[in-house]
Amino acid sequence: MRILLIEDDQLIGDGLNVGLGKLGFVVDWFCDGEEGYEAVFQAPYDAVILDLGLPGRDGLSILKDWRAGGRREPVLILTAQGDVDQRVAGLDSGADDYLPKPFALAEVAARLKALGRRHNNHLEPVINLGRISYNPASKVVTKDGEPVSLSPKELLLLELLIVNRNKVLSKESIENKLYSWEDEVQSNAVEVHVHHLRKKFGKGIVKTINKIGYTLGEI
Ligand code: CA
Repeated sequence: MRILLIEDDQLIGDGLNVGLGKLGFVVDWFCDGEEGYEAVFQAPYDAVILDLGLPGRDGLSILKDWRAGGRREPVLILTAQGDVDQRVAGLDSGADDYLPKPFALAEVAARLKALGRRHNNHLEPVINLGRISYNPASKVVTKDGEPVSLSPKELLLLELLIVNRNKVLSKESIENKLYSWEDEVQSNAVEVHVHHLRKKFGKGIVKTINKIGYTLGEI
């Protein structure tokens, strides 16, 4: 999942950026409210973590304007412990969930995954595709019933192909989901991940659509 993080507290922001990155999330971190507001228009985010008290522009105003403009990205707001008014105002402004500070990284990750699932209408607990099955909650992928070990990027790519299984994805749109602005992306990065998926699942798993992109194949 590519996450937009808007948080001006250096300690919290750094902890989320690094911690979520280690858990396989792709994170873009902004400290300034105005920059964070603009960022949502620049990349395809699966969810947003939004602090409320921010320099430049406060979180509630950001959220209200996104929703008024039709942005539907799931938003998790960070609220002060025990502040019921903040929580209510956030949910009223279009937040999907809230988390009081301080919080545990594992909880943030779990909430983000739940938001992503709801957003993608992933209500099926396990998705079965021929010889492959994929569990969106546990992230376990099996082939012929045996778990397959995947790197975080391979898992992201496979999830992307599964969620969009009737569409062709361009190389650029895949890169935008797999990498943050800070990542240095090799020009053949997507091809390399596709190659690894084919090695692990069989050649047919990813179909190359000439000059357009990739789509999920069959095995
Ligand atoms: Ca703050």
